[in-house]
Amino acid sequence: MKLPASMRAMVLDTGQNRLQLKQLPIPQPSPQQLLIRVHACGVCRTDLHIVDQELTEPKLPLIPGHEIVGTVVLAGEQTTRFRPGDRVGVPWLGYTCGECRYCRKGQENLCDHARFTGYTLDGGFAEYTVADQRYCFHLPPGFDDTKAAPLLCAGLIGYRTYRLAGSQIEHLGIYGFGAAAHIVTQIAVHQGKKVYAFTRPGDTEAQDFARRMGATWAGASTEMPPHPLDAALIFAPVGELIPAALQATDKGGHVVSGGIHMSDIPAFPYRLLWEERKVSSVANLTRRDGEELLDLAHRVPVHTEIETFALEQANEALDRLRSGRIEGAAVLVMD
Ligand SMILES: [Zn+2]
Ligand SMILES: [Zn+2]
Repeated sequence: MKLPASMRAMVLDTGQNRLQLKQLPIPQPSPQQLLIRVHACGVCRTDLHIVDQELTEPKLPLIPGHEIVGTVVLAGEQTTRFRPGDRVGVPWLGYTCGECRYCRKGQENLCDHARFTGYTLDGGFAEYTVADQRYCFHLPPGFDDTKAAPLLCAGLIGYRTYRLAGSQIEHLGIYGFGAAAHIVTQIAVHQGKKVYAFTRPGDTEAQDFARRMGATWAGASTEMPPHPLDAALIFAPVGELIPAALQATDKGGHVVSGGIHMSDIPAFPYRLLWEERKVSSVANLTRRDGEELLDLAHRVPVHTEIETFALEQANEALDRLRSGRIEGAAVLVMD
């Protein structure tokens, strides 16, 4: 197949906090990599943390984007799982060493030598990208490219956060109602749980959105829910939500933060934690999380709500995400 000489990409460069449209050479796949024609790439809060320099170790210059859906155009000589023409999904976890003590324990999400798509590896805010086939996913039918993109991080990380909260949950709180929350809500409701959605005070649009996705109740993060929570998931990067969620959580309850970055957690009285309440966090994903979530998304089935932007509108999509003005997930569409 004949490839063009160059591609368009949105690039973060040293000292910049806006992405710039550039014309770059098309990357060459190494033996384990696929060259992928990108059709859609989700825009995630993590991309925002990178551009806003709250995550401090990106490769630079960097092509962000780690919710990539595309078609394989070239497969490296050692690839076995994909062939040219296959549809492929590329997530945040782009490489692990397979040898460190975390990898050996089945915790590849904590690998000491992990590399991450759109952070320490170039990602999908571009017309083409390369990705290690061992970390790529086959995507379920029934999701077009733009609708599948948010599953690859919002869905995956949301699912891991939900799973870590435990299985004995009847009343589930979700703080921050964006891309991850709207996917997790559908899964939780499908599994018979009651979801209580908490948003920024006064954000009645997000509260309406949460109810449409199946939430039993939606209100401000400063309110107490009508029933104590068995667990709470936090998807907004706001440290104050940890004590707020503990306050709303019943004895033995679990508060799990799904974000990669959060503002400082204010001091709070021990009684909020007492009675065997727990606070924990989720980091990255394992390939097993991905397989489970994609299977579940197909069976529920999950309907992702998206707003699409052209590649060169990536900054606008990030601005809208920063100010909380995206319902569901933002997705860049390349063609
Ligand atoms: Zn490792
Ligand atoms: Zn993400």
